[in-house]
Order: sequence, then C-alpha cells, then structure tokens
Amino acid sequence: MLSQARSRGQVKTLGRMLDAEPEVRMAAETLARARGIDEFASMDGKRLVKRLLDRRSAAQVRTNPIHRDEAFECIHCGHSEVPGGAMVRDHCSRCLYGLHVDIVPGDRAAECGGKLVPIDFTVEGRAGVVIHYRCAVCGYTHRTRAHADDNLPVGLRVGENTP
Ligand SMILES: [Zn+2]
Ligand SMILES: [Zn+2]
Repeated sequence: MLSQARSRGQVKTLGRMLDAEPEVRMAAETLARARGIDEFASMDGKRLVKRLLDRRSAAQVRTNPIHRDEAFECIHCGHSEVPGGAMVRDHCSRCLYGLHVDIVPGDRAAECGGKLVPIDFTVEGRAGVVIHYRCAVCGYTHRTRAHADDNLPVGLRVGENTP
C-alpha cells in the first residue's frame, strides 16, 4: 500500500485512512516503531505516511495487514480458540496472551515466536479497549484492539465503539 503512494493526493488519501481506521493506524505505528520513528504518536495520518515514505529504504516491506483469522490453542493457558470473525482473533480470549509471529498483522513474518504478554490496557476513542503487549523473548511491543468476548480486567469493558 505505501509502496504505491507516489503522488501527494495518494499520501493525503492514505493519511485520511490512517486517521479513520484504528487498525490501519496501528499497522502504520507498528511499522514506524520497526523503523525507529519514535515520535509517531504525535503525528497525524498524513505526516506519518510521509515519514514512512521518507524512510522507504526497505521498499518491499509489506504494510497492509492480512486478514488471517485462524483457530488456535493458546500456548499459555491451553484454551481452544475459535476464529474471531469480523475481528481477527490474534490473542487468547481467556488469558489474553498472544504470540510474536507477525511483523505486520497477519504476515507471520516474525521469526521470534515468543509469548506476547499483556502488560497494559488503554481506552482509545474509536478503537475501544486496546491491549498493550510485550514479547517475553525479544521485548517487541505491540498493541491490539480487545474483542467483545475477551476476559478483560474488572472495570474494563469493550465499549459501544467496538463492533
Ligand atoms: Zn490463553
Ligand atoms: Zn518476540
């Protein structure tokens, strides 16, 4: 997606997409983090797209999340998980752990395979409850939207903003 953005108009359109779609925004932030762009949190969509394009040294890096939604057995608590449907089930609904297998959501390109440990929760506008992860093996950090059937800590509920 980013590799095709050449004109100013396309950058604008992509920027707007980042502002409107929390999942796209998160994928872009993951990429920004991977590229060492630390100040991404303060950027609006357009600036972030521009910044990512500036550093297009790794031109072939995939930036579009793949909708890969599979059943799995949780490596942490053994719970059998079914696919998430509209939202990709990328973490256990019971213990909330995930696996460090993606660089961009769904690409399965990370070689680490460590457990993604839920370390924090925030409530963020349209995204609803966001789970923050740190990989137990390599320290990689990741954020994902909580699902409606997640076993969240008491007091946190997935809001009406979440489908
Ligand atoms: Zn689990
Ligand atoms: Zn890892």
